[in-house]
Amino acid sequence: MSPVVSTIDTRCKRCFSCIRLCPAKAIKFENGQAKVIVERCIACGNCIQVCPQHAKRVRDGIARSNELLRDHHPVFAILAPSFAAAFASVTPEQVIAGIKLLGFDQVWEAAFGADLIMEEYARIHQTGVLPTMITSPCPAIVNYIEKYHPHLTMVLAPIVSPMIAVGRAIKWKFCPSAAVVFIGPCVAKKKEMEDEQVLGVIDEVLTFNELQTMFQENQIELNLLDPADFDGPRADRGRVFPLSGGLFECSDADHDILNREVLVSEGRDRVLEVLQKVDKGDIEARFLDLLFCRGCIHGPMMANDESVYVRRDRLVNYIYSKQDAKRQEQAKNDRAEYADLNLKRGFSILDLRSTQPNEEDIREILQRTGKWQPEDELNCGACGYPSCREKAIAVYQGLAEAEMCLPYMLDKTEKIQNKLAASNRKIKKSLLSLKMAQEQLIQSEKMASVGKLAAGVAHELNNPLGGILLFTNILLKKLEHSNDADALKKIANEAERCRHIVQGLLDFSRQSRFDCKPNDIHKLIDSTLKIVIEQPLFQSLALKKEFAAGLGPVFVDHLQIQQVLLNLFMNAAEAMQGRGELLVKTGSAKNNHFVLVSVCDSGPGMSKMTMNHIFDPFFTTKPVGRGTGLGLAIVYGIMRQHGGDIRVESQLGKGSQFTMFIPTAN
Ligand code: ADP
Ligand code: MG
Repeated sequence: MSPVVSTIDTRCKRCFSCIRLCPAKAIKFENGQAKVIVERCIACGNCIQVCPQHAKRVRDGIARSNELLRDHHPVFAILAPSFAAAFASVTPEQVIAGIKLLGFDQVWEAAFGADLIMEEYARIHQTGVLPTMITSPCPAIVNYIEKYHPHLTMVLAPIVSPMIAVGRAIKWKFCPSAAVVFIGPCVAKKKEMEDEQVLGVIDEVLTFNELQTMFQENQIELNLLDPADFDGPRADRGRVFPLSGGLFECSDADHDILNREVLVSEGRDRVLEVLQKVDKGDIEARFLDLLFCRGCIHGPMMANDESVYVRRDRLVNYIYSKQDAKRQEQAKNDRAEYADLNLKRGFSILDLRSTQPNEEDIREILQRTGKWQPEDELNCGACGYPSCREKAIAVYQGLAEAEMCLPYMLDKTEKIQNKLAASNRKIKKSLLSLKMAQEQLIQSEKMASVGKLAAGVAHELNNPLGGILLFTNILLKKLEHSNDADALKKIANEAERCRHIVQGLLDFSRQSRFDCKPNDIHKLIDSTLKIVIEQPLFQSLALKKEFAAGLGPVFVDHLQIQQVLLNLFMNAAEAMQGRGELLVKTGSAKNNHFVLVSVCDSGPGMSKMTMNHIFDPFFTTKPVGRGTGLGLAIVYGIMRQHGGDIRVESQLGKGSQFTMFIPTAN
């Protein structure tokens, strides 16, 4: 048979409510799902009631009941007395009529079974054979004792439940060929019917919820039905059985609150506590009536959401409506008819008590979730266990997973998040440097092709320019005193200017020869500064130097590097229009293989577009006649020819910084 209670995997959202509230620790957290461990489950139905996702399913009883109604004859229903509290806005008699309309041949009162077993309880109690007796009509209690307090089965009353009593009354006395379906609010009854001690008495169990579904499926509207009455023997005080303490109510036991012989307890926590105390011998009472629910009217399958008090009122009204001397007399006679019915049963010792870990095991498990000190144990209960220790024990017993610890997981998530963020930053950084490397590659390719063009042009212009200059000077000498001398001088000057430009192009395109030697970079900077400092453009500038100590010599053609510095200083001063701060910094990079020289200004900075073109020959933003656009192209050519580099950073409105990477003599 399939398990009575199971988890609907797709619905379980790992809230741990079921784990927290399962009295039998029968729910295991596995692969992200709270799974019911069939052999540990006592079918109390707690998990069904507490699961906010409705992720627990109860084994279906409708299909088999329909099958019986279709293929078997006769089929009897046994109706739990709490039915009077389960169906609102219809009379109890209409519910009975509805059950008959479903096809049940007879509907018997389970309360009659309660009357029968009460007499049996009284008999055992009076004989005093059991010094302490735990009542056994609640199948969840029976299951719990068999599994988790096995030696208490000795004191469990060896009496069947009202359901089995009536089942036996039908099958053993009244109609042996009948199939019997029990209908009630209890999930554990589904497990009880397959208990080998009472097997074969009940053929199927329907919950009130399932009964309601069957009414709907068969389009039975209870409120339109004529009332119908129970069949079979009449019940009497057994109808109070679904109320907590009902068993005593229908017995002749002493109800005095000071009666130490009797203890009535209901609800998961209290019952577990009582059983533990009985186990230890701490409880004196001789008669213990225990129920997992707050009476059967609080059962998990009551088919309505009303409070237990409303249900109680409805049941009490029903009981009063059925109580009169004539009915009581009839019930007494009916009981007498079944007086010889065997109401005994035995119990199985299943013993599922789990092995307990030792202190060392517990500590090891606690440490797996970062609990090294007692103060690390927060005992927050979010995992479903009352304390970190109890959860560690459950982990040891294979019922829980160490990772179920919420604070630990939050901590872990935070760490993972931080790691992710760090690696994200790394990726972004490498993407950025990749982009920069790409840009540099594009730039150097561009410069290489522009360089070739410039070299070609410069080379072709150089010779004719030399000719123009030579012949202009010859003519000038001859006509020194004539009226044409001025024009010739102009030709000579302009030709000289052209030669200057051509020389710049050659410098840029690396056509000039370099004479590299070890040089002190600070001296080179100072000597270049000396040249410019006298110029009017530098007069009002604040000049600052931040020279790094201990820099080795650079391996350069000193004239060329001075040219670079000169161009950078001039550009900075021009950008600042003679006002601002010029800072020259030095440092080293790449394991001292390069010396860095940064020329920083507090000028207007450059736009992205300007930055993209500054090293292009003839790119200038200065007015015609003021700039040639060759300065930085030359800088670029010289630096590359030295095996170095030049980089620029700039912010609009804040200034620019050019950094030379100069190879050292190392
Ligand atoms: P030129 O100085 O003849 O214009 P350059 O090649 O030296 O040619 O400079 C090219 C352009 O780069 C300049 O016109 C200017 O727009 C820009 N530039 C160079 N240095 C700076 C600087 N320090 N601040 C702002 N812009 C600059
Ligand atoms: Mg310039």
